[in-house]
Amino acid sequence: MKTFETPVLICGGGGAGLSLSVFLSAQGIESILVERHETTSNLPKAHYLNQRTMEIFREHGIADTIYARGTPFENMGHVAWLTSLGGDGPLDSKMIYKMDAFGGGKMQAIYEADSPTRSGNLPQMRLEPIIREFAEKSPRAEVLFSHELMSFTQDTGGVTSRVQNLKTGESFEVRSQYLVGADHGRTVGPAIGIELQGQTNLIDMVSTHFTADLSKHIVDDQPLLRWFINPEGGGGWGSGAMVAMGPKFWDRRSEEWVFHFAFRPSDPDFDETLIVPRIRALLKLPNLEIKVHKVSHWLVESVLASKYREGRCVVIGDAAHRHPPTTGLGLNSGIQDAHNLAWKLALLTRGQAGEKLLDTYEQERRPVAARNTKWALFTFMNHFVTDAGFGLIPGAPPEMQTAAFQTLLADGYEGDWTRARMHKVLMTQRMEFCAHDMELGFQYEGYAVVADGSPAIPRAPMGDIYTPSTRPGHRLAHAWLEKEGEKISTHDLCGRSHFTLLTGTAGAVWVEAAQTAAERAGVSIAVHQIGAPGHYADRDGAWKKVRQTEEDGAILVRPDTHVAWRSTAKAANSTNELTSALTKVLCKS
Ligand SMILES: Cc1cc2nc3c(=O)[nH]c(=O)nc-3n(C[C@H](O)[C@H](O)[C@H](O)COP(=O)(O)OP(=O)(O)OC[C@H]3O[C@@H](n4cnc5c(N)ncnc54)[C@H](O)[C@@H]3O)c2cc1C
Repeated sequence: MKTFETPVLICGGGGAGLSLSVFLSAQGIESILVERHETTSNLPKAHYLNQRTMEIFREHGIADTIYARGTPFENMGHVAWLTSLGGDGPLDSKMIYKMDAFGGGKMQAIYEADSPTRSGNLPQMRLEPIIREFAEKSPRAEVLFSHELMSFTQDTGGVTSRVQNLKTGESFEVRSQYLVGADHGRTVGPAIGIELQGQTNLIDMVSTHFTADLSKHIVDDQPLLRWFINPEGGGGWGSGAMVAMGPKFWDRRSEEWVFHFAFRPSDPDFDETLIVPRIRALLKLPNLEIKVHKVSHWLVESVLASKYREGRCVVIGDAAHRHPPTTGLGLNSGIQDAHNLAWKLALLTRGQAGEKLLDTYEQERRPVAARNTKWALFTFMNHFVTDAGFGLIPGAPPEMQTAAFQTLLADGYEGDWTRARMHKVLMTQRMEFCAHDMELGFQYEGYAVVADGSPAIPRAPMGDIYTPSTRPGHRLAHAWLEKEGEKISTHDLCGRSHFTLLTGTAGAVWVEAAQTAAERAGVSIAVHQIGAPGHYADRDGAWKKVRQTEEDGAILVRPDTHVAWRSTAKAANSTNELTSALTKVLCKS
């Protein structure tokens, strides 16, 4: 059998695996990716790409393609609850509630201040081919679809895998330094004793991807997601959510849509032929022409891998954590796992870091996933709370449900107080749609971060209020800087395969310290003395507001734009302090 050698073998060509291929190439590391399917997924699945993910895609030159092919911002900054799109009854075609979402509306200024990039929206079935294209562009990456990882064994020096070409039936061996399971937990995890622990099989969801012309029935183009809830459906289990799929238009003219329904665990096996009538009934468009492309099932679960690593094998994405799509943390987390892992694998394969650096992947990403899996389930279940906001009572007779909608839409004081209650209850949905802190505010602890003893930044219980920081472990706070008319984010100074040291006008001593520390550690450090002549200027003081250090302090940023270490002011011996921090982060001590 032929044997190929590569530093990293990636099993799985979904969003997480393909992203890892791109990120490794950007680090200068070769890899082979095997995906058993012939093409990327044809299921719509994820669509919302949060700011952190878009920052990562921006760094790799992918963001502009996503924005160009995805939802324009004016069509993705809101979500809405409606009674129906058709019907001529007094309760039909009513918008009951609309709120800001994903950094739109009143949230826009806040989101814009905190990141160099906005969030994006592009269904996964259209996103994956873009990432694949970028992955395949690199001569460092071998991307093999119709290839399946059949088995593997590992020893102290590497991993030997057997891969089968599913088209020809031929098998070959791959000898790699590391194996990454980005395979939804199908192959790598079970073989290295990973258990996915938590709640599973909670609710059966059905997503229907279809083409229909809704342009005459939709009057507001702003919402990205629309819930349909009406007296006939009875709320909760009887409601459904619809998302525009583009691909050319993303407003009322969207050619394609996806409708999500929940099924009770007690429901009999559902009948696919009943799906189209159910969509028509909920929309109250009995004659709507619908061309179904795909009906897919997925289970609501909230599970986390018992470990992320065994020897030279690690898992990322849905192989490490699975949870409901609410808050859109699934694919986003998978891409962020890949980003966290790529620079570590790069340093390890080049022999620039100690083996313990690989442990920091689990130390850092598993606690984030533990929080996300709980949060996603919590925000999924929170949709049942909206029923109370509308005044719907579980199991109440239809006339009571109708009366609830009548009051909700009525003039006068009863309508006013019912709407006031609805507003309060639906504002809890901000936990899902304005989860700014969940998306940007997570922080890492472990060997690759040097804690500075400062108190932890409080996390907003609603998940919404993000506090920018340069505290070690946090994603570096963003601020716009300027040099000779060029506007650049603090993030643009960092990234990829080098460390970055940010200091101020009085930080000349750090420039030399960085040079010596880099030479001693055998890595490169880019130094920026922000505000000093010839360097980037902090014209409007945005950096000063968030940097949490003095002009003579310094911040060491890792290649993934998370802060590794900082000295809030001048150090007694800057070279020694910086060298010792870098040695620790590289797990060499
Ligand atoms: C309806 C819905 C809506 C969602 N919305 C969002 C959202 O808005 N935002 C968000 O972030 N997330 C969302 N998610 C979650 C998101 O879709 C998943 O988290 C994401 O697909 C996980 O990507 P992955 O690459 O880890 O795994 P997958 O996409 O499952 O890819 C794993 C790949 O591994 C391959 N594979 C497995 N075993 C082998 C083997 N032995 N050899 C070769 N290949 C193998 C499989 O064929 C598969 O292609 C949503 C999910 C659903 C169902």
